[in-house]
Amino acid sequence: MSSAPTAGTRPDEVRRHNRAALLRRLHVDGPSTRAELATELGLNRSTIKALVDELTALGLVTEQVPTHRQGAGRPSLLVLPQARAVPVLAVDVGVEQVTVAAVGIGGTVLGGRHWAQARGGADPETVLAKVATACRELATELGRPPVRIGVSVPGVVRRADGLVHEAPNLHWTGVPFGRMLSTELRLPVQVGNDADLGGLAEHIRGAARDAADIVFLSAEVGVGGGVIVGGAPLRGTGGYVGELGHMVVNPQGRSCYCGCRGCWETEIGEDALCRALNLTGGAARAEIVAELASLALRPEDARHRLEGFAGWLALGLTNVVNVVAPELVVLGGLLAVLPPVVVTEVAETVSRRSLVGRAAGRLRMVTSTLGADAALVGAAELAFEQVFANG
Ligand SMILES: [Zn+2]
Repeated sequence: MSSAPTAGTRPDEVRRHNRAALLRRLHVDGPSTRAELATELGLNRSTIKALVDELTALGLVTEQVPTHRQGAGRPSLLVLPQARAVPVLAVDVGVEQVTVAAVGIGGTVLGGRHWAQARGGADPETVLAKVATACRELATELGRPPVRIGVSVPGVVRRADGLVHEAPNLHWTGVPFGRMLSTELRLPVQVGNDADLGGLAEHIRGAARDAADIVFLSAEVGVGGGVIVGGAPLRGTGGYVGELGHMVVNPQGRSCYCGCRGCWETEIGEDALCRALNLTGGAARAEIVAELASLALRPEDARHRLEGFAGWLALGLTNVVNVVAPELVVLGGLLAVLPPVVVTEVAETVSRRSLVGRAAGRLRMVTSTLGADAALVGAAELAFEQVFANG
């Protein structure tokens, strides 16, 4: 989130600020007329014209007469972002799969690569080499290299330089992945936590577009979250956020790899879901999803089988909701494919039990609309944040 320029700011800084605001607006909301841009950005028409002319000359936007005229008089020209002008590279290093996509302004996917890897078999140098190859191939296809790279990793990441402190499910500890990739490809690289980026993605392009205070909770092998407060992502010291899964909810519970006992992850992560579904631990994701889809058709059975799981989900969310007071909770990862009857019951329980829920009325809880793409989309948005911030 950028702030408005203050009095005394130099004219070229004001122009840069306005140009970034206009591009961000087109990126998030798509083609807009000059009149809409003037109203939404609080700028006069001549300023908008000058900015659009500048961006047109740079090849970042084009203009056309809108097909649907509104009202009498000369129609306001429609400004369209040019997706291929400043592509970024988004990388999602998952536990079982790595996905790389070239993404243009407006969120258009211009091309991509993905490959499977064995759980725990993601050696950093191998991942780096494959990502670098994919980046070069995509640059050739696009006819230009990406301007920045955003990377999602399922672990604790230092935002400033992309050092991956711990990514237990990748078996990475102290891997300077951001610096390695930046050195290899000679491009600026930002690295973020997968659940944190999932929350950013849902806020900009998914289920939480119209909400300003959001909790995104995602369960895969690990459990993490992203929190948006007043429209801006919660950053935390060093950017270390998203470890909702290590909130201790059951001190008599199972040991967690982090050294604690009874972390929320041990009760609502993939292993816990497998136990509830009577699947062997480490079952393929497709098998878990199929079982949940089958249960969704039998609501009574779903309620019964997932009663304990849903209880832990509601308990942890009650704590989170009392602290953050979100207007919307978005469930991602495997939680996004829970049977609807279970999601409804959890929302009702949290609304009833939390002081915030009781004060604010019924808690809104929805499932992710981006699904398995959330972290990748978030990685692209992480890169675009820097594109707009740096002009
Ligand atoms: Zn833990």
